[in-house]
Amino acid sequence: MSDIERVKCLIIGSGPAGYTAAIYAARANMAPVLYQGLQPGGQLTTTNEVENFPGYPEGVTGPEMMMQLQAQAQRFGADIRDGWVTKAELKGDVKKVWVNETTEIHADTVIISTGATAMYLGLPSEQHYLSLGGGVSACAVCDGFFYRNQEVVIVGAGDSACEEAHYLSKLCKKVTMLVRSDKFRSSRIMEERVRNTENIEILMNTSTVDILGDGNVVTGVRVKNNITGEEKDIEATGFFVAIGHKPNTDIFKEELEMDETGYLITQGKTSKTNVEGVFACGDVQDKDYRQAITAAGSGCIAALDAERYLAAK
Ligand SMILES: Cc1cc2nc3c(=O)[nH]c(=O)nc-3n(C[C@H](O)[C@H](O)[C@H](O)COP(=O)(O)OP(=O)(O)OC[C@H]3O[C@@H](n4cnc5c(N)ncnc54)[C@H](O)[C@@H]3O)c2cc1C
Repeated sequence: MSDIERVKCLIIGSGPAGYTAAIYAARANMAPVLYQGLQPGGQLTTTNEVENFPGYPEGVTGPEMMMQLQAQAQRFGADIRDGWVTKAELKGDVKKVWVNETTEIHADTVIISTGATAMYLGLPSEQHYLSLGGGVSACAVCDGFFYRNQEVVIVGAGDSACEEAHYLSKLCKKVTMLVRSDKFRSSRIMEERVRNTENIEILMNTSTVDILGDGNVVTGVRVKNNITGEEKDIEATGFFVAIGHKPNTDIFKEELEMDETGYLITQGKTSKTNVEGVFACGDVQDKDYRQAITAAGSGCIAALDAERYLAAK
């Protein structure tokens, strides 16, 4: 028993939601312990330019912003640790969590901020330009602004893809939307919206073969018609992937209520899950907004909810 650590507030995940929760929890004397997981700093560490987080008039790189959030949490005493949570038993009064399959932690409250992972096609050229920040993105709201008055391609056929294509159409000269089959997966109304937008061209039965570029930036996309087999190149400076996100919730499957796609369900405006003392914030419980500022805001809510839960106990 002696090597089991007891903590008041355990935070899982180190994106904007987790670090904001840590700042609030530390300042409320909850001595939070935060495990960073395999991606310290979260999704924003994969982007060069963040221009829409308030407080940075000149913009900031994702890694720089996340280092500042970490430092801010540490300034108030948050204990930030390396480690991947591999198992959780959350239903009792004492929440049991295992880190790296070995370390066992007992917590009075747990804040889950494990985020969601954007899905990509997996083409080597896509990953190449993604890693360079050279024209591949999984977030139109985040990166669309960089492609003002330019031509872009978006791949996807669900509601999010339609919403993102429509968002891009207001910024870009032309949006080409690639739909792999002969049907949209979105609601009828979203499909109609893209079909009725003048500068969106929809190519049905069309797959992405390759992302073209000069080695540094994207210059086009090679596509293939799945019926005829015919290939052609489309000029574009941006390639947007909108084929879905996977919430990082596998380890909570037996423990917490989630929707059919694996997002944690929280109650109303709160961060409360269906298990008392367990709170969720950020992208792991939000498939609609998925922004750093909304994740940070919900991290604040989770820490306040956890503090109130402890106070009531
Ligand atoms: C390329 C890209 C560019 C973006 N640009 C912008 C932008 O310009 N502006 C904007 O507002 N938003 C942007 N976003 C969206 C933004 O990054 C997310 O909305 C935000 O990071 C969500 O924060 P989060 O804290 O919920 O989770 P995440 O940032 O996803 O962090 C999740 C954390 O959980 C950890 N974790 C997961 N599982 C475990 C586990 N089992 N144990 C321990 N830790 C775990 C991970 O290591 C990670 O630290 C961008 C996203 C991407 C992918």
